[in-house]
Amino acid sequence: MLGCGGFVGSHLLDRCLSHGLGGAVPEVVGWDLDDRKIRHLVHHPNFIFRQGNCADPDARGQLLVDLRDADVVLNLAAICNPAQYNTQPYQVIRANFVDTFDTVQMCAEAGTWLLHFSTSEVYGRTLSSYVDDSYADPALYELEEDSTPLVMGPVANQRWSYACAKQLMERFIYGCHTEFGLRFTIVRPLNFFGPRMDFIPGREGEGVPRVLACFLGALLDRKPMLLVDGGMARRTIVGIGDAVDAVVRMLERPDAAANQVFNVGNRANEVTMRGLAEMMRRIYADVSGDVSYLSHPIEDVSSAEFYGAGYEDCDRRMPNLAKARRLLDWEPRMPLEDVLRETIQYYYEKYGTGRAAATRAA
Ligand code: UDP
Repeated sequence: MLGCGGFVGSHLLDRCLSHGLGGAVPEVVGWDLDDRKIRHLVHHPNFIFRQGNCADPDARGQLLVDLRDADVVLNLAAICNPAQYNTQPYQVIRANFVDTFDTVQMCAEAGTWLLHFSTSEVYGRTLSSYVDDSYADPALYELEEDSTPLVMGPVANQRWSYACAKQLMERFIYGCHTEFGLRFTIVRPLNFFGPRMDFIPGREGEGVPRVLACFLGALLDRKPMLLVDGGMARRTIVGIGDAVDAVVRMLERPDAAANQVFNVGNRANEVTMRGLAEMMRRIYADVSGDVSYLSHPIEDVSSAEFYGAGYEDCDRRMPNLAKARRLLDWEPRMPLEDVLRETIQYYYEKYGTGRAAATRAA
């Protein structure tokens, strides 16, 4: 598992090491620079942790041995923070394409199945947004893995650096399948939410994380939640437990998952960013027992102010999930309300004033 120490990797590890795969606990070799999200697992008897950068040329020998020995390689290593797409496009393209190139090639040479985490950003903006049909025609906004065109903005809108690098990596993987018989599975995540996501600014890191951690940081610090460009962009949000369940099903059904691209999302959990901010402050008020949060300030900010030049938004991401249902018998279950409550509860217990006061009293 490359990039095992991130949000998704840490939850996948939890699930594989505690519940097993197909009735047995697998042996997992994990690579990551950062161990903060997996410290509770590093001494597990079925887990070998290699703390280092798998893209480092000095690590290549060990990586090759690991890839050859593996039944499946899960590649989660990525830079996937929207605030970096337009400000550090060189690093974003390097990490998501150049640094992954060798890994893919090595899997092809070793004959090892590659389960690669791509992104729903490869879809770019919806066709609806270009013809401005107010989403009248689902064919112009629903995202289907094998038929929807992948539409990106001009090069100067560097938001697309990530999407473009990820898209080229998907095409490279597909090319290795065609020319060298690489067995692959590509996952396109649609906004996985849950505990341990990103970093809370000022507590777990510096900079601008994704929207969930931005809003949580604002609530914890009693600062306004900022809505970029009116907060009308829509996202479908899937709970990390449901998302991990989809991946576990791929691992347990290798023949069904082989050489397929899968959307992993939750159609029922669609929300605008304004709606998300309103829901989060309501749930935070409930979890904290502090009703003043019901009117926690929500303010508008332009994308140029918030992200800098070159930002362009994905307007809507409504996944078609028929393939995941058909081949994996997978259906997401957790409603948005529960996903947010679970996540807010986790962060409130970790950093909220209740926790701080309890710690002080203890
Ligand atoms: N966004 C926002 N306020 C924030 C952070 C993000 O309104 O504090 C918006 C952002 O412009 C986008 C949406 O929230 O429309 C989702 O952004 P995120 O960073 O989670 O990543 P994305 O889903 O675009 O990959």
